[in-house]
Amino acid sequence: MTAKIIDGKQIAEEMKAEFREQVAKLKKKGVTPGLAVILVGDDPASQSYVTSKERDCEEVGIYSDDNRLPAETTQKELIALIEEKNKDPKIHGILVQLPLPKHLNESEVLLAINPDKDVDGFHPINTGKMVSGEKAFLPCTPHGIVQLLIRNKVTIEGADVVIVGRSNLVGKPLANMLIQKKPNANATVTVCHTHTKNLAAHTKRADILVAAVGRVNTITADMVKDGVVVIDVGVNRIDDSSKKSGYRLVGDVDFDAVKEKASLITPVPGGVGPMTRTMLLYNTIEAAKAFVGR
Ligand code: NAP
Repeated sequence: MTAKIIDGKQIAEEMKAEFREQVAKLKKKGVTPGLAVILVGDDPASQSYVTSKERDCEEVGIYSDDNRLPAETTQKELIALIEEKNKDPKIHGILVQLPLPKHLNESEVLLAINPDKDVDGFHPINTGKMVSGEKAFLPCTPHGIVQLLIRNKVTIEGADVVIVGRSNLVGKPLANMLIQKKPNANATVTVCHTHTKNLAAHTKRADILVAAVGRVNTITADMVKDGVVVIDVGVNRIDDSSKKSGYRLVGDVDFDAVKEKASLITPVPGGVGPMTRTMLLYNTIEAAKAFVGR
């Protein structure tokens, strides 16, 4: 079997077309969804993420409010800016780009965001609601993974899902989403990490295997069963002298070998990454809909 490659870029484009229509409807009601993006410091990777997020907003008609602060910004100044955005009726979503410079207290900053504007889904109130199955802003990467599965008609209900990686960003929220007693969930989920005794024994059982580790070749062909659906979240740089940059990006999965056994597989890049950005737009539009009473 050779896997069908899941095209995250194409699904993201399809979703953006849906968002443009939703934004147009909101504008007719007099509301333009607004996203405040706050970046502290001059980390080049963070700057490029923020620029892409702002470009995505423009593409679908979301107002993007750019706030780039110097690296020496104090905790008090940052929280004051968040409080200003919490009150601003033009702003429906607030995103603080992580990681923050070391002198800033990340959890205190995230707590300062109004949970109704927490479009990254990192506020403990949204985490709590997600865990108990209530409506909440869902973190963008795991939510994007669920959308990839749904839009490729993968049966999640009853599936054995194995997630390798238990970060607060990906593994834990994804496990929580997939065990909910609701449609497009109801999976049996196993979460693996560095203390897992026999990783392959778990991954071999998976109907859906998600690798969110950050290590090249964590998943090899002998670790998966025929027909598995593979979602590769990892983004790793490896040397490549044929590239101008001197490197290329690969995932956590040995893509060329595993695709010969899988039924569906995401590439890196072009799989999960575009969906993460897209789900931020989704959350911002949902926040604006809630603001106008839907
Ligand atoms: P993280 O916080 O570093 O977590 C990595 C997880 O992998 C940890 O739970 C760790 O276990 C586990 N792990 C590490 N080595 C392992 C091994 N040999 N066997 C089993 N488990 C192992 O990383 P993250 O933030 O979740 O990100 C993971 C990867 O996804 C990174 O490459 C990141 O760049 C990428 N990512 C991509 C997107 C996207 O949109 N495409 C979004 C987010 C992240 P312990 O808990 O025991 O340490």
